[in-house]
Amino acid sequence: MGFFIDCLGASREVGRSAFLVRTDKKIMLDYGIKIFDKSGFPKFPLESVNPDFIVLSHAHLDHSGCLPSFYRNSKVRWYATPPTRDICEILWQDSMKIMGDGLPYRKQHFKKALKYWTPLLYDHPIETGGTTVEFLDAGHISGSAIVNIGYEGKKIVYSGDFKGENTYMHKGAESIEDVDVLIMETTYAQREHPPRKKLEANLMHEVYETLDDGGNALLPAFAVGRTQELISLLRHHDKEIPIFVDGMGRDITKIYMKHPRYIREAQSFRKAVRSVNIVENISDKKKASRTPSVIIAGAGMLNGGAILNYLYHANKNSKLIFTGYCVEDTNGWLLLNKGYIMKDEQELQVDLPVEYFDLSAHAGRSDIMSFIEKANPEKIILVHGDKPEKFAQELKEEHGYDAIAPLIGERIEIH
Ligand SMILES: [Zn+2]
Ligand SMILES: [Zn+2]
Repeated sequence: MGFFIDCLGASREVGRSAFLVRTDKKIMLDYGIKIFDKSGFPKFPLESVNPDFIVLSHAHLDHSGCLPSFYRNSKVRWYATPPTRDICEILWQDSMKIMGDGLPYRKQHFKKALKYWTPLLYDHPIETGGTTVEFLDAGHISGSAIVNIGYEGKKIVYSGDFKGENTYMHKGAESIEDVDVLIMETTYAQREHPPRKKLEANLMHEVYETLDDGGNALLPAFAVGRTQELISLLRHHDKEIPIFVDGMGRDITKIYMKHPRYIREAQSFRKAVRSVNIVENISDKKKASRTPSVIIAGAGMLNGGAILNYLYHANKNSKLIFTGYCVEDTNGWLLLNKGYIMKDEQELQVDLPVEYFDLSAHAGRSDIMSFIEKANPEKIILVHGDKPEKFAQELKEEHGYDAIAPLIGERIEIH
């Protein structure tokens, strides 16, 4: 018998994650978009046969952003945790605003999609035909899951995006043993994250220095995950400094609070959120700019969002501090590498000092290695990375694993 896996996206790239697993069911694992592509246009996964159901690992758009396109002509059920569903609603709405006609679905399709959501909780497997599907906590963002599929006595595990280390918001991902096929994200397979404690100390040092000089510490942050982690981190180190939160991160923070079971220490997070200033209107924005303070706002890579206005109006003692990865050619990347951003198709010099601290929500190299060692899989399919073929070679030659980095459109048959 056996089964197969079709790689419809995130194959030798980061973005548009989509994998069709064919057991006695057709299961679509994620259906995302690639927002930043060299072509200048978003990219979507390859078309697929109609699945029997969809399983969504987490809400980030590179995993969820194309899911509503199924609802142009289908009534397929999609499984996700409750936070994933709620975050998707906001992100889909926002991407319709930003990308509008560029998306392969319309408002009615995303409304319809919400009706076909079916909750799946961590550690509560469902059984359908000869296939079981189980979610395990991935430690990446609220509601993020590792997917464990059982079929004919085999275990197929999809890591989604995961984090092995504890963060302020989440416990690190659980490990899984005796895996047969592992579909593994490799965002940081070639890189180790610097020690977290030291990073945090350096970040706080930069913040204090900026505030002492009367400036704003501007922290561009993704609305989902990073904004909440930064609130917790800053409040863990300092109960007093003024913090302002602007942009979509406000709404996502509300969703995080609505699902306390998906947060490591819900009570202290609630306390931290209550202690920050939520920016609701223009006068709040002015107040934030005038106060020596930390301002957390999107977009994380400076491509639009509330952070830009703060940047344009910041006094000269302010500082811009990135805490997340910036994709090539985004404003964040341009600023870090070339010292300017693009505004209305013109280069705009930014005179503020710029810092970067790697507070990634992804597993670093040693996390990835120890997950693989514990899983000890018969086959490893490396996805969601820039150069997974290099890592595949290393796993094969140095560690004796059967590892591959499939091309987009490739079918992997397992017997
Ligand atoms: Zn993610
Ligand atoms: Zn991702």
